[in-house]
Amino acid sequence: MIRTRFAPSPTGSLHVGNARIAVLNWLFTRHHGGTFVLRIEDTDVDRNVPDAEAGIREDLLWLGLDWDEGPGQGAYGPYRQSERTELYQHHARRLLDDGRAYRCFCAGDSADETTGRRERCACAALTPEAAERRRGEPHALRFLVPRARTVAIDDVVRGRVEVASDEIVDFVLIRSDGRPTYNFAVVVDDIEMRISHVIRGVGHLSNTPRQALLFDALGAGRPAFAHVPMVLGPDRQKLSKRHGAAAMAEYRAQGFHPDGLLNYLSLLSWSSPSGEDVLTRKQLIAEISLERIGVADAMFDPAKLRWLSAKHIERMPLDALVAAVSPFVDRDRFPLDVGRLTAAVAATRTHYSTFADVNEQLEAFFPEGDVVVAPTGSAVIDAAVDVLARLAEWNESALRDALGAIGRSTGTKGRALYEPLRAALTGREHGPPLHAVLFVQGRDRVIEALRGVRRLAREP
Ligand code: GLU
Repeated sequence: MIRTRFAPSPTGSLHVGNARIAVLNWLFTRHHGGTFVLRIEDTDVDRNVPDAEAGIREDLLWLGLDWDEGPGQGAYGPYRQSERTELYQHHARRLLDDGRAYRCFCAGDSADETTGRRERCACAALTPEAAERRRGEPHALRFLVPRARTVAIDDVVRGRVEVASDEIVDFVLIRSDGRPTYNFAVVVDDIEMRISHVIRGVGHLSNTPRQALLFDALGAGRPAFAHVPMVLGPDRQKLSKRHGAAAMAEYRAQGFHPDGLLNYLSLLSWSSPSGEDVLTRKQLIAEISLERIGVADAMFDPAKLRWLSAKHIERMPLDALVAAVSPFVDRDRFPLDVGRLTAAVAATRTHYSTFADVNEQLEAFFPEGDVVVAPTGSAVIDAAVDVLARLAEWNESALRDALGAIGRSTGTKGRALYEPLRAALTGREHGPPLHAVLFVQGRDRVIEALRGVRRLAREP
């Protein structure tokens, strides 16, 4: 049974790096019909940000990453580390009783995982009785790292990684203030939550030998580990805002298609066996495999992200696209009803990278400043006022026919017919199909604009 977890610390919103870890865990889990767990790693109280957990949930759901277990839901909870203190104490006690851990009374080590020195702390030599007598004194609990062993990890992505246990200092499990360290809490949780696959950033690879030793000491099987490469900016520095990388909440606010983002994040260290870049959620689930995750650092490419968002928008059914762009429309500038908005979107639908592009697209239907009157074409404009003012139905097909009638009555077609009208209505040479412009602007506005232009043209 595949069980994975995404274990964010609630220190802020989801960024490209950790969102992509969530994406890989989720795709892998859904591929195998497994269980995806959301665990909140909030033991570092000073770094916790209020509402960050709610933000992370919102970001995950926006990306379409639902979880099967998480705070308030599931049989292996609680799912916030801050609510699991007793469990950590219980396992710490076991290690202490088994002689796998010892109390360390050295000053200044409460927050540190290591003492910074290789040789074993003198506290390890205290007899259990002596240590028990001093238990009222402030102390941390350290893991007694077995000596002269090779800790080997068969990482799914990176292959075999070996570390000599003598390189590992007796690290802290429980700080003197009672809080578990990251390495200890994560192992207890991964055991208790029956996690089968740990898929996370390569930054945690250096923690893995310590965690592996803890799995062994607690008598639990180790999960499979898959350490995913880093995401860097084009300058090979750690990815940041400077590189145009935004938080998920910002991408959402900027109107990116969530499937475009999901697609992009999945491609950061993985590629489809088909060689395709544009992949639906369904295709991603079907095709994902840890074996195809590479070891090279991934490079963040904002242009590709935008392109993928455009590709996913292009594939949307029209009504879904209209619903998606609707919240982004600047209603003061473009007070369109849903029918006219739909016509405008239909006429421009291959031009969107984000839903927020709708305003730029709507601009093409309306003049920006003063309309320049075409020197020729006043006959076309006169005819248009007559025909359009009398048109029984103001819809796109009636307008298409009306344009034909205007052409016939003035003996014009093509540019001679369309250019003066387009110029009069939008002030531009190019733009969406003219019947769509007429429909979106609406009859009153069209007639008013054409009459205005005709008046201007007649003035000496
Ligand atoms: N809370 C850790 C992080 O955000 C997760 C560590 C893990 O996946 O083991 O990096």
